[in-house]
Amino acid sequence: MFILPDLPYRPDALSPVISAETLRFHHGKHHRTYVETVNTLLDDAGESPTALEDVVRAAAGDANRTMLFNNAAQAWNHGFFWEAMSPGDGQPGGDLGRAIDADFGDLAALRTNFVETGAKHFGSGWVWLAAEGDRLKILATHDAGDPLTMVGLVPLTVCDLWEHAYYLDHQNDRKGFLEGWFDGLLNWDLAASQFAAAQGRGLEWTYPEPVMKAGTARLAKR
Ligand code: MN
Repeated sequence: MFILPDLPYRPDALSPVISAETLRFHHGKHHRTYVETVNTLLDDAGESPTALEDVVRAAAGDANRTMLFNNAAQAWNHGFFWEAMSPGDGQPGGDLGRAIDADFGDLAALRTNFVETGAKHFGSGWVWLAAEGDRLKILATHDAGDPLTMVGLVPLTVCDLWEHAYYLDHQNDRKGFLEGWFDGLLNWDLAASQFAAAQGRGLEWTYPEPVMKAGTARLAKR
């Protein structure tokens, strides 16, 4: 069964852009429900996959598994989203910094594009910075959509555009949320390691591996 990973920081560490109250609901209720639903659906189907990425890719585009795709992709997206934030004040440097300058002009232009793409996205979804080899691109996906299902695309960072991500703290000001998020919370260390992985140096981030259910281990030893 897949787990709800612990947050990599205290619930109040991302305040004031994301309050502890928002984070507790978002992680403890929304993300937990996605994970539990995935486990129930897989259990009912008698399946025990070894990687959430495989579940997402296999269910994508399968009209009979829309519910599994939606919940598995949302579970993955949130796991990546928690890691894509850090309370420090990092900056993109090295190869990633050079790629940003080459593809966008400078960091400020990337920020404007990222914030506008997220602010203008209609309805629920996610705004991503992703890499295709050494080229960068910004894209938004609807609902549970994610780049795992897009060949050759590696996500570097993501921000949640669902209202549950920002409404308690920013009400309808999604743009203000995105600006505060980009300036204060974006984890550039993760973005840099994902960018290296997109070019074959190191491994991409993956969702924690599933753990065995109680009782399964004993059964397997017989
Ligand atoms: Mn969310």
